Formats: sequence, structure tokens, C-alpha cells
Amino acid sequence: MKLTEIRGIGPKTEELFARIGVYSTDDLIHYYPLCYDEFKSPSPIGALQEGNRAACEGIITGNVSQRRWNRTVIVSTDIADATGRLRLTWYNAPFIAGLLKKGSRLIFRGTVRMRKGVRVMEHPEIYTQEKYAALENTLVPVYGLTKGLTGKTVAKAVRAALDADNGSACEYLSSSMLHLLGFMDETAAIHTIHFPKNAAEFEKARRRLVFDEFFLFVLALRKLKEEEGETENAFPMKAVWESEELIDRLPYKLTGAQLRTWHEIEKDLAGKRLMNRLVQGDVGSGKTILTFLAAIQCAANGYQSALMAPTEVLARQHYEKLCALKEENGLDFLRPVLLTGSLSAPVRRQALADIEDGTANCVIGTHALIQTSVHYQKLALVMTDEQHRFGVRQRQTLTEKGAPPNSLVLSATPIPRTLGVIYYGDLDISVIDELPARRLPIKNAVVDESWREQAKHFIERQVQEHHQVYVICPMIEPSEELEAADVISKTEEMKKAFPDFRVAMLHGRMKQDEKNLVMEKFASGETDILVSTTVIEVGVDVPNATVMLIENAERFGLAQLHQLRGRVGRGDAQSYCIFMAGQKSETIAERLDILKESDDGFVIAEKDFELRGPGDLLGIRQSGDAVFRLADLTRDREILRLAGETAASLLTDDPKLIDDEHLALRKELQRYLHEGSTGIAL
Ligand code: ADP
Ligand code: MG
Repeated sequence: MKLTEIRGIGPKTEELFARIGVYSTDDLIHYYPLCYDEFKSPSPIGALQEGNRAACEGIITGNVSQRRWNRTVIVSTDIADATGRLRLTWYNAPFIAGLLKKGSRLIFRGTVRMRKGVRVMEHPEIYTQEKYAALENTLVPVYGLTKGLTGKTVAKAVRAALDADNGSACEYLSSSMLHLLGFMDETAAIHTIHFPKNAAEFEKARRRLVFDEFFLFVLALRKLKEEEGETENAFPMKAVWESEELIDRLPYKLTGAQLRTWHEIEKDLAGKRLMNRLVQGDVGSGKTILTFLAAIQCAANGYQSALMAPTEVLARQHYEKLCALKEENGLDFLRPVLLTGSLSAPVRRQALADIEDGTANCVIGTHALIQTSVHYQKLALVMTDEQHRFGVRQRQTLTEKGAPPNSLVLSATPIPRTLGVIYYGDLDISVIDELPARRLPIKNAVVDESWREQAKHFIERQVQEHHQVYVICPMIEPSEELEAADVISKTEEMKKAFPDFRVAMLHGRMKQDEKNLVMEKFASGETDILVSTTVIEVGVDVPNATVMLIENAERFGLAQLHQLRGRVGRGDAQSYCIFMAGQKSETIAERLDILKESDDGFVIAEKDFELRGPGDLLGIRQSGDAVFRLADLTRDREILRLAGETAASLLTDDPKLIDDEHLALRKELQRYLHEGSTGIAL
């Protein structure tokens, strides 16, 4: 159903929805909230905790003052109850003063901060007792929005779409399965995920929807595997001596795990059956060289390969490394080309022409390289770096263009083997469970502001010894709402603190060309200190960088911090990671200490999960996996296991899903496989 068929949605609102990727009522009901605003009962003022969002009820005890500071109007007053007092402030909202009267009793909701030794609630929402009572203990959905679109509009539209009941959310599990699994039915689950009455209901609905995602995914994989199991490798290859020679000439010795994995890849490529392999190895385990070896084998056999990276920065880096490797080792038959979104039109045209006529035989780039405008001459292998996995659809896009190529996926996502078998059911798995030996373990420090001076001296000494430093900030520019370090101010600060050093900044809002240049300069040692957001999180490899200083480390997830830390400790010199905590708190210290104790991505993910409180789990998603809306590999492992087992037993009973009971499921699976792309016959 079109959005404009909903009452109250006109062409203007329709356009706003399009900006967030919602084009139909079906999209809309699956546009899940990011998290929920929880209206807990007001707590005594004395019990309010710094940094937490909460409500409290109090009497306005002070006058309501209004003053000007620079160009900001500040309204403030004090409230109190029997347990304590609290200061309230609002910025640039002079009308608030008119709502407040000394002596009146109201409920205020916001985050408490310490300002110069005083507890302050900044920008609190204001409620009367009746208004608050109506909201108390409810969860209000918080949606991803765009300018001009409010959360209220989205919620209203969702309600209307659900009421219109256009049948898009009907149950596809048979009633016996539903009963056996003890699940909420599909319609109720979708309704509840938008408007849960309480946390328990939310959890039930989420469980059902996560199951759906895993279950359909697992079934689709089984179908793919059935198909591909029979697919012949249309690109028979021989093992070549060039790769052996390169292995001998590398400045380091491959680890046992790298060698084992390489031989598996080499054998796959030479085999009759199409390769579908996942290489799983923690950050720094040395996955990149394996892709280069595979590219060499392809090229030496007269075929093309493609290496796809998640960011342009990483793609460029791979490209430059491969070019260097080619030069150093005289690999003339290897002709790499870079294909990314920011190439100028003539360069891009030339690249496309070279790919089409086979002049280029190793294409490195971002997603740009699987677009329909790219025509390969003889694409025999597609490698995907730093990806948990490919969506079913992406896989099909590639397959559509002629004989399906071999596929190699590289990932640092930790997942236990038993679940990997379900999640990567269609792939063969190689695990690199060994880090290069010579490396010194990274030294970690969890510190707070009091350590600032020492950190400065430390950085100074490292740069004087010709090493390089990353400084990571959670934000790009200063914000009034959030107190956290930002790249722009931090860069200025660093330039002032180290006038003799070369300081540069990098963030997602810079133009792609600028980003490339900054990254190139850092990689070649022309920059000493790089102040950056997490854009450097995945894959970037500058072995001469030995210090990673992470500002407001409490604002990042542990898995992310682990990835960030993986940017240092890549060379022979001792490396350091400094986690600077912006706030003092025991939970923060406890969380960050996990990083100090372990450098195993797998252990970190597990521990992080254990430490997350139930409140945290109300956030709808923790990680940005491209394949799922809700499901999270760490959090939802048990559901993945259940989905795997359910799919297995279902397919044992009814392999073709021809039972009447499974008709709806069969249709749903067909829809899942066909969505947006040519399907796979069931
Ligand atoms: P990741 O697995 O995180 O992608 P990379 O492939 O980027 O890791 O490798 C990290 C660094 O380790 C690179 O600088 C690479 O040249 C180096 N490296 C790879 N294998 C070895 C090895 N066996 N011994 C020493 N250094 C290695
Ligand atoms: Mg990598």
C-alpha cells in the first residue's frame, strides 16, 4: 500500500519518509524504533545519579532567572524535595521562564550532570503530575528521523498502517510450530515492537522477530547451498609457483595458521566445485596477504579477481599495498586497478574499460565494484574484506552476471564454532587462530582526566622517536547536548600543544578526496598525529603508528574499542592504547578493564554482553550488521541456535516445504529470496 493512502500523509510527508528509506506501508511497519524512551517513576532528588536520565518531582524553591551569556539565553531555577535540591537550566528557550512559578510542584525529566560542583539537570522536559501519570511505565518508541519528520508523525503513521491491516504482516509459521516454539504471533510481535507496554513484552516481541530474521536467513542459505553445491567452478585454476615464491620473499614468515588457510584457499580455487569460503581471524592476524596471494593465483591463471572493502580509505590502502608488492617482487602479470566512488569521470571510464577488456586483472574497490555498470571480462573470484557476511541479495547480484565467481569473505567477527556452522551454513570456514609471533602485546591503560598531562608527554616522546599517533574522538564537532571530545576542537588543541608536530584530522563529513589525502599522508609518515572519528576503525594498517589515544572511551562499545585498538601493535615496536574515560564511574571502569585484561575479540564480546544491564538491552540493536534489522550475533546467540535447529528439523521432515502446513512459510521464503533481485528457484 502506498503511504499516501494513510490518512494524514500527503506528498510532502511521503517525501520525508522516502528520505529514511520508507516507501510503502510494508516498509513502514518494519521501520523499527532505534530504542525506547522509558518513563520510569520519578525518583527522589537525592537518589538521582549523575549521567543517568531520570525523572524527579520537586517544588520550585528559587526564583526563575534569565540571563544572557554570549549569544545564549540561559533560564535557570532550583527545585527541592525532602531528599535534596537540584538546579535546572535551559539554553535558548526563554519561553520556559513563563511556564515556571516559584512554589509550584512539577515533574522534570532529564540527565543530571555535575557543573562546577553543583548537580544540574539540563534541558529537562516538564510535566504536570497528571500528564506524567499517563506516561508512567510506558515505553515510547524513538525512531531514526530526518529533518522535518518528527517521532510523533512516524508513530502515528505506524499505528495507522498497522490498523489498516493490509495483510503484509501475517503469520507464516504453522500453528504447530508456533505452539512448539511458544512464540508471540507475527502481527502481535510487529505491533508490540513499535508500542511495547513494558520491557517484558518488548523482549517477547523482539525474540519473535529476531527468530524470523535468523530463521528465514538460515533457510535461504540452505537453499543457496543446495544450488551452489552443484555449481561447477567455471574457472579451473592451477596452483602457481609465483605465490610460493612470494611467500618466500615476504619480509616476514607467514604463521602456521596463515599458511594452512592459504593452502585451503589455493586448493579450493584449483578444485572443481565453486569456492565459498570464510576466513575468520581477529584483528591483526594477517588476513590481507591471503587475498593478495589469491589475486596472484587468479591473475597467473589468466582470470580476474575483485577485492571489495567496506570503506574507500581501506580500499585505497589495499590497492597501494598490492601495487607496492607488485613492484618489489616484479609481479608484472598482476595489473591492479582501483574502482571507488570518488574517481574522476575520465579515470573511472578508463578503469571500467580496462576491467571490461581484461587489461586490469585485479579490481580493488568499495561496493562500486559490483554495480551493474561494471562489466568484467573473466571474473573468477570475489573477495570481501571485513564483512560479517554478504546478504543473500548481494550474492545474487554477482551471480546474475554470468558464471558465478568463487567467493572469499574475510571477517574479524568472533563467533563460536558451533554457531558459525549455522550462521555461515553455506560457507567453508578457515580460522586464523594465531597472531604473528614477533609482535609485542599492546600495553593498555585505562585513565581519566587527571592523567592528561602525562598522556601529553607520552605522545611527545613517541613522536620524537618517529612514531605516529592516533587520537580518536566520539564526535566531529562540539555539541551543546553531549559532553564529549570532538575532532575539530581536539585537532586545534593538539596543534597548539605540539606546534612542532604535524597534526591532521579525519572524519566522515570531509570530502572523499580530502579523506584519501589525509590517510595517504598518515600512511606515508608525513603526518605525526591523526585526530579522527571511528572512520579508521576497520582494517587500516599503518605499522609505524604506536599510540592510540581514545577520548571518551566510555562512549564506544567494547567490540568497537577492540577494533580501534587493532590499528596499533602492527609493527615491531611496542604499542600503546590509552583509554581516556571522560566520566568517573565504576561500571565504566569495569567495562574498560575488560579491554585491559584481554585482547581476544571473542572474550571481549562475551564479557561485554554479560556486563550490559537489562536497561541497555532495550536498545533495539547493538551492532550495524548489514544483513539484519534486529538480530545481533552476540546478544541473540541462543535464538540463532534455536533457528538453526528449527530449520534443520523442518527440512528433515519436509525438505521441499510441500506440506499444506508449510505453504505460507514457502511463500515467505520465496519472497525473502526474490526481494529486489532474481531469485533462486525453490
Ligand atoms: P587483519 O587480519 O586485521 O586484516 P592485516 O592483514 O592488516 O591484518 O595485517 C596486519 C599487519 O601484520 C600488516 O602490517 C601485515 O603486513 C603484517 N603481517 C601479516 N602477516 C604477518 C606475519 N606472519 N608476520 C608478521 N607480520 C605480519
Ligand atoms: Mg584487515
